[in-house]
Amino acid sequence: MKISLLPTLLFTLLISFVSISQNAVQDSVMLKKLYTTALTDGKAYDWLDYLSNEIGGRLSGSYEAELAVIYTEAELKELGLDKVWLQPVMVPKWTRGFKEYAYIESPTGDKTITNICALGGSVPTPNLGIKAEVVEVKGLEELAALGREKLEGKIVFYNRPMQPELIQTFEAYGGCVDQRYSGAAEAAKFGAVGVIVRSLSLRMDDFPHTGAMSYGDTPVNQRIPAAAISTNGAEYLSSLLKLQPNLLFYFKQNCKTFDDVQSYNVIGEITGSTKPNEYMVVGGHLDSWDLADGAHDDGAGCVQSMEVLRLFKKVGYRPNHTIRVVLFMNEENGLRGGKKYAEEAKRKNETHRFALESDAGGFTPRGFTFDTDAANFKKVQSWEGLFKPYLIHYFEKGYGGADIGPLKGNINVLAGLRPDSQRYFDYHHAANDTFDAVNKRELELGAATMASLVYLFDKYGTE
Ligand SMILES: [Zn+2]
Repeated sequence: MKISLLPTLLFTLLISFVSISQNAVQDSVMLKKLYTTALTDGKAYDWLDYLSNEIGGRLSGSYEAELAVIYTEAELKELGLDKVWLQPVMVPKWTRGFKEYAYIESPTGDKTITNICALGGSVPTPNLGIKAEVVEVKGLEELAALGREKLEGKIVFYNRPMQPELIQTFEAYGGCVDQRYSGAAEAAKFGAVGVIVRSLSLRMDDFPHTGAMSYGDTPVNQRIPAAAISTNGAEYLSSLLKLQPNLLFYFKQNCKTFDDVQSYNVIGEITGSTKPNEYMVVGGHLDSWDLADGAHDDGAGCVQSMEVLRLFKKVGYRPNHTIRVVLFMNEENGLRGGKKYAEEAKRKNETHRFALESDAGGFTPRGFTFDTDAANFKKVQSWEGLFKPYLIHYFEKGYGGADIGPLKGNINVLAGLRPDSQRYFDYHHAANDTFDAVNKRELELGAATMASLVYLFDKYGTE
């Protein structure tokens, strides 16, 4: 018995070994093709040039956001995808209005102008601005400890810096973002008249960084204006407060919230050859803040996602699953696009297997984080060797992304591209997030890395 079974067993083992190594060879050839095509014949950088320099900042509800929808839809149609369409979504519309103005006034009446910008969603100041004494705090707990007695009628200055010792700068961001997001709502409870928030950046410079904030359930008539001050400005104000605790801060901002307006997610797809009713998504967000071009955040993620589908066409790869590129609208101040996409997917009973998001800047890719179970993560780990030649080595469990987040519970794998994050917050939501801050090769490497992961999940499926 044993003897007669042995050759069969050996033969089976040999066959499976040959097919595994054949697959590995095929896969490394395909990855090489994807990287080579992205680096020698890529389109992502040209698309980003247009989005940044011809269109510019694409705040939800703005004319520029509308232009970006029209442009990317036309470009996706050019690629000869099987289907390209716009998915309607209502988005909030907030405008900054005339540029903000602020100065510090010493007890002797000397004025020093300082750079600020309104936080996204803030109410304006009264027409003549606000002038008040300043109370510096390092966070919401310190604020609560001071209470109404110390805060009534004052401007609260949140000045907790991002922690430089954290290697993952997103962690440092996460450790401070509550000041920006909830700072005004919390300060209003104690009778403060406005808030100034240290910009969420690890670099010392003069750029104020905007970003979303929320008033929570603060009644409309109790909402106070909120602005960001540059890191240099924050240090200056803080050091001055130690010498002159009674100094005054003046600021004026002219923002406005309108009714929601019609906008769109831009979607294109290559229909799957064997599993057309199973979807894999790759995407970024088309909207950006208004202070610059949103080149890193998230023009880069959009053009990389478009490039994934283009690369598949270019190298002649016909996917098994239907591969969709989704350019989500309104990630920055509402996430309406991400929510709408997931809502529609559910309504149409679409089976989503895998989604990959790029929304961490167009910097050198390091790897991915995966929001998935052990079986799928094990599968990913078996592919690590394929990525080694491209210096992609970071495969960790973690967050997928904001826009694909609403698909959770209805999908097997959510993944986020993880580029090097050391310089990301130098540009994030600030006036220097422009095309020149993005390196062509780094952007292209990111696109090829994304295409490689989509290819592998498409070929081997999810668990
Ligand atoms: Zn973003």
